Amino acid sequence: MSGFVGSQVSNDERLANLEQVLFRPMGADGVRARTGLYERVLDGLTDFISTFRPEAAEVYRFPPVMSRSDIEKSGYLQSFPNLVGFMCCLAGSPAEIRRTANRIYEGEPWTEGLGVADLVLTPASCYPVYPIAAAKGAAPDQGWIFDVGCECFRREPSRDIDRMQSFRQREYVCIGSPETVCRFRDDWIVKAQSMAEQLQLPYSVDVANDPFFGAGGQFLAAGQREQKLKFELLIPILSHDKPTACMSFNYHKSHFGEAWDIHLARGGPAHTGCVGFGMDRMTIAMFAHHGLDLSAWPQPVLTLLGL
Ligand code: ATP
Ligand code: ZN
Repeated sequence: MSGFVGSQVSNDERLANLEQVLFRPMGADGVRARTGLYERVLDGLTDFISTFRPEAAEVYRFPPVMSRSDIEKSGYLQSFPNLVGFMCCLAGSPAEIRRTANRIYEGEPWTEGLGVADLVLTPASCYPVYPIAAAKGAAPDQGWIFDVGCECFRREPSRDIDRMQSFRQREYVCIGSPETVCRFRDDWIVKAQSMAEQLQLPYSVDVANDPFFGAGGQFLAAGQREQKLKFELLIPILSHDKPTACMSFNYHKSHFGEAWDIHLARGGPAHTGCVGFGMDRMTIAMFAHHGLDLSAWPQPVLTLLGL
């Protein structure tokens, strides 16, 4: 495995350098302003991923918010209630809104004037696609493919450079028969490794689980691992001992098909799967392994990213 660029300094210093050059603080853990240098590489990775887009894919880019009832329907609140960001806005009559707004400036408690809105912050870029797929009618056996992406929010504040509350995901999502979805997922595990090799990043692939909430969550996580429903491609960012999940390969079985009443033309609920790219983690990984000076990056990597 290749080392980190900058590994002649302490690990804390190496991470502090990455933080300083790539980001500016925004006053909350895991929420950062991204520099132009960082965005150039993220844009290059975005275009690189697009070159792998299956021909038939329908493309959608979602806003950072989605309908609260859609997220309730998808079951997200059962599995990850601790991660969701609900939108609230000042509610009530114009006079009540004015009174609450005045309290803010008078330094008085005011948050009871907030009302829960009909929106949540989008937690993963594939969630808004299932209602769109459901509206298409019955799914063919050979499936539908979607290319989706958005800024995601998860309430997991951390000072670690690789764990953000607001981050970008890109996904290819497959909806079809169990065989189609499993083949899609397995093919992507292979393709993703070739992508990491082309980007000259050290990686490993391992079975994984989602961070299901609560005591019952441990049971769900164990079942997910046992059935090998989730794999991750990991790249060292913080350290070699604890590599970071930068891509994930998920088989949801009939979970979303049943939640959204998506049927196969041949009968039975549609199955779904997705490959998720953590755009911010992939970008940080590029700088961690190739350095902060783009002109010193391997030429084939620069060419691949159009830099
Ligand atoms: P599912 O659809 O089953 O919920 P998913 O693929 O949509 O799964 P995850 O596997 O949870 O979602 O996340 C996909 C990728 O997003 C991760 O591999 C990671 O790279 C990135 N990611 C997740 N959480 C964070 C975070 N807190 N900060 C930065 N990147 C993150
Ligand atoms: Zn997904």
